Amino acid sequence: MAKKIQSIRGMNDLLPAQSSDWQYIENHLRQVVAAYGYNEIRMPIVEMTELFKRSIGEVTDIVEKEMYTFEDRNGDSLTLRPEGTASCVRAAMQHGLLYNQTQRLWYMGPMFRHERPQRGRYRQFHQIGVEAFGFDGPDVDAELIFMSARFLNRLGLSEHVTLQINSLGSRETRVAYREILVAYLNEHREQLDEDSLRRLESNPLRILDSKNPKMQGMIQTAPKLVEHLDEASKLHFDTLCAALDSAGIKYQINPCLVRGLDYYAKTVFEWVTDKLGAQGTICAGGRFDGLVEQLGGRPTPACGFAAGIERLVELLKEVSGERGGNKVDVYLLMAGEKAESAGMALAESLRDQFPTLRLIANCGGGSFKAQMKRADKSGASIALILGADEVERGVVTLKYLRLEKEQQQVKAEALPALIDDVLKTK
Ligand code: ATP
Ligand code: MG
Repeated sequence: MAKKIQSIRGMNDLLPAQSSDWQYIENHLRQVVAAYGYNEIRMPIVEMTELFKRSIGEVTDIVEKEMYTFEDRNGDSLTLRPEGTASCVRAAMQHGLLYNQTQRLWYMGPMFRHERPQRGRYRQFHQIGVEAFGFDGPDVDAELIFMSARFLNRLGLSEHVTLQINSLGSRETRVAYREILVAYLNEHREQLDEDSLRRLESNPLRILDSKNPKMQGMIQTAPKLVEHLDEASKLHFDTLCAALDSAGIKYQINPCLVRGLDYYAKTVFEWVTDKLGAQGTICAGGRFDGLVEQLGGRPTPACGFAAGIERLVELLKEVSGERGGNKVDVYLLMAGEKAESAGMALAESLRDQFPTLRLIANCGGGSFKAQMKRADKSGASIALILGADEVERGVVTLKYLRLEKEQQQVKAEALPALIDDVLKTK
């Protein structure tokens, strides 16, 4: 036998038994973003490598070691997108969406990072991204946090997540703070790991984002950026906190929250859970006022967030168990040639009458017993049975598969009312 080819490590298939969880999340997302007037944008999965280098930052985990970069047949350097914000900004600029107007946008899709695969960390994973352009905030920062809170609430996850926020201030604030931080880090040089020593020169703030458990104590006692904020950033942050307070949204100010990408300024936030081990951040975002200009556009304030769908799915499973796979409403059994052709017509007419009806018509024949087994396995609420006898008499046998109810023979005209009942109780 030929050798079977396996999928790539860290890139998962989504099997039918899991897809209903994903659809559940996606459906709620669509409703929530619509409730705030955000519109969908879809970008390509591959972009010029330069786009990510210039936006995410050369000295970040993503650009230094996680990107899937390759040369295409023209010799151009291309990269599978590691995140969506850079592509979203590129697309919005390219199509003039940021010209004299504001935009509220969202997207959803696969992202690619060459990380060590483990629970909650994959090489192909999926993000929901939401971005608002052209608003200085902090009203829109609050709107985005409200929206993420509403989304998590709809999914029934509110009790299991906490919101952490911080401010990274203006560029000038960070330049001044950088000196203070570097002086502190130099005093604790012996505690820095290899990555951090390297970043001490190139990007010391990123050290605060380190996941290395040995460094956490030293990071906790480092001078806090939030204590060195410029006036405008401080006002922005205080106003945001007040908006969250008055909406009753609980949060913790985490002075070590810096995020793993370079483009953030002022507001940053993360929704975290303690239910998923080390990969506890399920949604993260912030303000990135400099990014549009950095990518060649006019200065445009911007703010957004991204949620990891795999981690949402895992958290859902953790807190509410299996949701059950995709079920159908009706399974149609047919015995004999006449019944098969009458049955197919009946199935089509029921689908015409009930656009949301989920009906499986038996294919491939089989004994009555075999068909009944399939009906049961499908999860259908009712079985409709058509044999030669039923066809002759113009009736259908209806059998309830999940209820203690008598099976009955019904005239074709009476069937729609009964199907209607099944749909109402689902
Ligand atoms: P982490 O600190 O966990 O590496 P990050 O800061 O790199 O996360 P972002 O780039 O902000 O993550 O992405 C936003 C969200 O996307 C994360 O909060 C997480 O839910 C999800 N995410 C990021 N990387 C992965 C991955 N490799 N596998 C699965 N989900 C991921
Ligand atoms: Mg990461």
